[in-house]
Amino acid sequence: MATSTKATPSSSSAARGRPRRIVLLGATGSVGRSTVDLLERDPEGFSVAAVVGGRDAAALARVARAVNAEFAAISDASAYGALKEALAGTNIGVGAGPEAVIEAAVREADLVVSAIVGAAGVAPTYAALALGRDVALANKECLVCAGIPFIKTAKRTGARLLPMDSEHNAIFQALGGADAATVERMTLTASGGPFRTWSREAIARATPEQALTHPNWAMGPKITVDSAGMMNKGLELIEAHHLFAVAAEKLDVVVHPQSVVHGLVSFSDGSVTAGLAAPDMRVPIAHCLGYPVRLETPAPRLDLAAIGALTFEKPDFERFPALRLALDVLAGGGGLPTVLNAANEIAVESFLARRIGFDGIVRHVAEACEAALKDGTAREPSSVEEALHVDHIVRERSRGALAATTASGMLTLQ
Ligand code: NAD
Ligand code: MG
Repeated sequence: MATSTKATPSSSSAARGRPRRIVLLGATGSVGRSTVDLLERDPEGFSVAAVVGGRDAAALARVARAVNAEFAAISDASAYGALKEALAGTNIGVGAGPEAVIEAAVREADLVVSAIVGAAGVAPTYAALALGRDVALANKECLVCAGIPFIKTAKRTGARLLPMDSEHNAIFQALGGADAATVERMTLTASGGPFRTWSREAIARATPEQALTHPNWAMGPKITVDSAGMMNKGLELIEAHHLFAVAAEKLDVVVHPQSVVHGLVSFSDGSVTAGLAAPDMRVPIAHCLGYPVRLETPAPRLDLAAIGALTFEKPDFERFPALRLALDVLAGGGGLPTVLNAANEIAVESFLARRIGFDGIVRHVAEACEAALKDGTAREPSSVEEALHVDHIVRERSRGALAATTASGMLTLQ
């Protein structure tokens, strides 16, 4: 594949010997905690250069102690005192605010695990990539917000982008070292989320509690809401397009409620390879942490006879319009994915705060994309800085628009 996921392991520390130095961005989140679980089980195999969290000083301090990190950085500058106090008596360095997050991200390391949620992950992940650090990418918003400059930078610096998102990790493994020209199709599976069998009307009225109940995965709130409306799969299609340098027409989605098959690659001779595993993020996380060496994990082993049946369905674009919108945005290219990502983050926040209904999320994102196409905001960003500038503009607009609709008593933007 013409991709930034280099096939040869020559520069990896696993090939050079252990321990492997890790920076963990988003250490207190769902992916972060699963990563910590694996690191704690193998203290000889890994050393932790830095951990980063958003706001929760106590949780970050616990993680920093658990993995004996050298440095802990919290994004919320006002949490400095609390973090300092919680780490008193240790040798762990403490920092707070966006500069401290960047300082953590660029520490000398063999692998940076990018597991901050949302576009907040873009700047620190990019800072590491620009220095040529290998990055294990759980944060899909990086490639949706700034895919082209990210891939260009990885190529320029020789940094490897390892896919940690389960579908992309499965595809990466299923690809092996295949020649890109022989790939006919790449398929991401989707669980279908909690609303898989619901009517369009019922989905429109779904509450945050209902959207936050995922059938197969325990994840952070933003990705769980994205999954409920299948926007998550849309973001993942854009992610796959950049990660594997695959044309949008070759990408597709199949709904697979058991979440056992995560991704498939179809080749020109009719062969299909797939990545399977129990739905446990420790599997793709371990694959990235050890790559190209396989680690041992306590994840449940796949027992196909016990599962009995694996089922597959076509996605329903009528009931899940976010998937269609993301495909249109991918086809439209330019800066549209950046706009989609920013508007979606604010709309999801507004839904969780009960300012808009569930159907208001996709409606708002579609309107934000249309507005950005008209006024030129959606032109292709030539750098990560430009992408973040567009991200900022769209967020401000979305906040204003969603606050205004709430004030006028309407639930959606029409
Ligand atoms: P989460 O909400 O559980 O955790 C987010 C982490 O980011 C926390 O550590 C939080 O403190 C940190 N954070 C938030 N804002 C920050 C900021 N401004 N600066 C620094 N840190 C900040 O989210 P999650 O479910 O772990 O997901 C993380 C990323 O991984 C997302 O992009 C998600 O799409 C992706 N992902 C998650 C899963 C999963 O199973 N949870 C699977 C695949 C991909
Ligand atoms: Mg995924």
